Amino acid sequence: MNTRYRQASFLRAVARLNQAPDDVGREVAFAGRSNAGKSSAINTICDQRQLARTSKTPGRTQQIVFFETEEGRRLVDLPGYGYARVSEAIKLQWQELMADYLRHRHSLIGLVVVMDIRHPLTDFDLRMLDWSRESSLPLLLLLTKSDKLKRGAGMAQAERVRQAVANEGDRIRVERFSSFDRQGIEPVHEVLDHWLDLAV
Ligand code: GDP
Repeated sequence: MNTRYRQASFLRAVARLNQAPDDVGREVAFAGRSNAGKSSAINTICDQRQLARTSKTPGRTQQIVFFETEEGRRLVDLPGYGYARVSEAIKLQWQELMADYLRHRHSLIGLVVVMDIRHPLTDFDLRMLDWSRESSLPLLLLLTKSDKLKRGAGMAQAERVRQAVANEGDRIRVERFSSFDRQGIEPVHEVLDHWLDLAV
């Protein structure tokens, strides 16, 4: 087990970017459609049950939550997107916060987009891809709940997603993942380690 992520602890939750921790060091952010399994993925990656809160109530004030694995190294839980029933005002607030964060956060060095393996590349996911392209941000597309598909079907689905982003070269990596049986945990740790350890 990778002990770095076990040490992750809550640092701060903010509704505005100017309340975020100092923009120094390195951080990796996690984004995803609500219910895709983002909180479960963060908890599994960190081998902690309750680090990221699962099943949040939709439509609450959107917050960015920062966790620290060690001094100057952070994992960031971005607000889930795609709630059908939230107001236009909240959707706009979400867009502004996300765009602001993805465009202006210097310490952000990698983005994980969590997608249900059965429903990848939704409109919202594609918007995240657009924003990451603007800033040439390395991307890990995490196809969660891989336990929901048989092995062959899961591999075929991952291949389809790889084909869909093939024109992005090696900026984008695609992995199957399951918080239930921990499939994909090693490659995910490897990608995060690589991002967090790159020379600043
Ligand atoms: P979030 O809204 O993206 O943070 O999603 P959650 O982590 O709260 O998970 C949403 C639902 O999907 C919950 O009912 C989880 O138990 C379930 N879930 C999350 N990860 C997995 C997984 O890897 N496999 C399966 N089968 N279910 C999962």
